[in-house]
Amino acid sequence: MPERIFNFSPGPATLPPEVLRQAARDIINYRDLGMSIIEMSHRSKPFMAVVDEAERLLRELMDIPANYKVLFLQGGASTQFAMVPMNLLGAGQKACYLNTGVWAKKAIKEAKLFGEIDVAYSSEGETYNHVPAAGDYQVDPAAEYLYFVSNNTIYGTQFQSFPSAHVPLVCDMSSDILSRPFDIRPFGLVFAGAQKNMGPAGVTVVIVREDLLDRAPDNLPTMFKYRTHADKGSMFNTPPCFAIYTVGLVLQWLRDLGGLAAIERINREKAALLYDAIDRLDFYRGHARPESRSLMNVTFNLPTPELEAKFIKEATALGLDGLKGHRSVGGCRASIYNAFPRQGVEKLVEFMEKFAGNN
Ligand SMILES: *Cc1c(COP(=O)(O)O)cnc(C)c1O
Repeated sequence: MPERIFNFSPGPATLPPEVLRQAARDIINYRDLGMSIIEMSHRSKPFMAVVDEAERLLRELMDIPANYKVLFLQGGASTQFAMVPMNLLGAGQKACYLNTGVWAKKAIKEAKLFGEIDVAYSSEGETYNHVPAAGDYQVDPAAEYLYFVSNNTIYGTQFQSFPSAHVPLVCDMSSDILSRPFDIRPFGLVFAGAQKNMGPAGVTVVIVREDLLDRAPDNLPTMFKYRTHADKGSMFNTPPCFAIYTVGLVLQWLRDLGGLAAIERINREKAALLYDAIDRLDFYRGHARPESRSLMNVTFNLPTPELEAKFIKEATALGLDGLKGHRSVGGCRASIYNAFPRQGVEKLVEFMEKFAGNN
């Protein structure tokens, strides 16, 4: 493996070197079968075993009960913005949404095509610098579900504890799935694009409670029905084979590391190093309110945009790549998902100290 830089990209994001090494071998010759993992029929025994194992590991790691289906779909997380209301929201029905960032806002826009949407909370007026606390909004008991984004990738905010409601929760966990243990039972549906915390781009994991599958209207096209994919074990059509296979490797890596409780500990330590530097050095300013700070995406500003540009340029030269903030908020963002190594965080903190001293 050639020398690697520290890649703070928000997504597609860094993956464990062990996973890349294994994938490199299997892309040439999978288990001595004389062909690549990406050349095999998706209905062949060895590939079916890959999908089964990925699902089994996900169920084990997230403690997913039997009455939930696990689907491996295409179209990215963005397709779920529409698929969720298409399947769960009938004409004349209502759903409740929390607007905590651009990804939530995009989901609201799609949902409005299908039903009545009640935006029960919005932090848009404050550049989405926080997520609401439990008492900050009310969920209409007539809503079919409460939709929220657990981690707001662009703004670096994250729900520390999940909303509780008398309606099923629906959550976009694209940028923090598998980063900490949680109880999935209050959730009707959880989805996540793989490319932030789970693997390469190309597959979106959907975990959906079985009893919700029958809410979809009959005139919904086959490919957009969760039921279609649930009944066929994600094999109704050709699934994103390579992406699912790689997610499987990441799940093995996570299990061998000790699972979600172990990775949460590591994630907390990594994030604490960065937030401590932001708070300690009178030079950086965190974007997220402290009680909403994300363990996955750490957002901060420097005194001026010129200094931010200089900071990013010098960091890149040191092998600290991908620190530029999203164009909608500017500043800097360090994305430190599960697979991001602690040494990279330590190196960034060291650089932040030096840079603050020199400027
Ligand atoms: C990246 C991201 C998305 C969009 O994912 P795509 O797979 O590109 O559609 C949606 N939601 C969140 C929270 C994200 O971080």
